Amino acid sequence: MVVKREAPFLLCSFLLIVISVVPLVNGWGRNGHFIICRIAQARLNQKAASAVKDLLPDYADNNLASLCSWADEIKSRLRWSSPLHYVDTPDFQCSYAYDRDCKNAAGEKGVCVAGAIRNYTAQLRSYSASSFEAQYNLTEALLFLSHFVGDIHQPLHVGFTTDKGGNTIDVNWYTWKTVLHHVWDDNIIDTAIERFYQSDVESLVNAIARNITEGWTSQINTWERCNYNTTSCPDGYASESITAACNWAYKGVDEGSTLDDDYFLSRLPPIYLRLAEAGVRLAATLNRALG
Ligand SMILES: [Zn+2]
Repeated sequence: MVVKREAPFLLCSFLLIVISVVPLVNGWGRNGHFIICRIAQARLNQKAASAVKDLLPDYADNNLASLCSWADEIKSRLRWSSPLHYVDTPDFQCSYAYDRDCKNAAGEKGVCVAGAIRNYTAQLRSYSASSFEAQYNLTEALLFLSHFVGDIHQPLHVGFTTDKGGNTIDVNWYTWKTVLHHVWDDNIIDTAIERFYQSDVESLVNAIARNITEGWTSQINTWERCNYNTTSCPDGYASESITAACNWAYKGVDEGSTLDDDYFLSRLPPIYLRLAEAGVRLAATLNRALG
């Protein structure tokens, strides 16, 4: 669990200390990223699967999902990578445009989650099993890409600028105090795993994977495809996310709202869909880049 943005300005140094040990959460949480990478790795073609196996460190035991949150874990050390986890869009416009929105706080173009996906996909295309030097960097490229394709599908990672993607909107998740962003990163998914899957994340992975092959079959080609034959196409994913943020995440939520069964049960289907799309598209991107 790592800080998504700079900690908000606080007058009281005590609060500063508290916030530095209990950071804001960001990106899908551990379970969200785990699910996405699990779904993706099972869909790799032979070449991409063996490249991923080759690039993963030995201790990962060829389990991409086990390192799918690595990019969050190193964020505080590699501070330059923080703005690569999200993109801010203009308040209440419910739209995303790469040229307008993909930049960091200093206005540097391309420094956002969509730019990062393009960059790390391009790096992976240089994969050559013979070069140890290249492989070392490409391990990071693989882990960053796998994480960021997940992040861009989290609707509030393409949220409004002023509320920092829902990070400044205080809500109650049932009786727990949290922020709206965290509800979408973790609470909805974790509550579903606990309530419907006997606290076993693998059962939810299997349920979503089954839906992909049995329920969403007719849509899979559309999910996988990139227009203009590009290797990666993150802008469409970002547009879908801000639309979902407006239609589902922000909808009916005010500062101090209590979100319980009504919100949980109605938002669960769109979240399952985003996790499935992210997994399918991560696999498709890796297949194009490495296969
Ligand atoms: Zn992230």
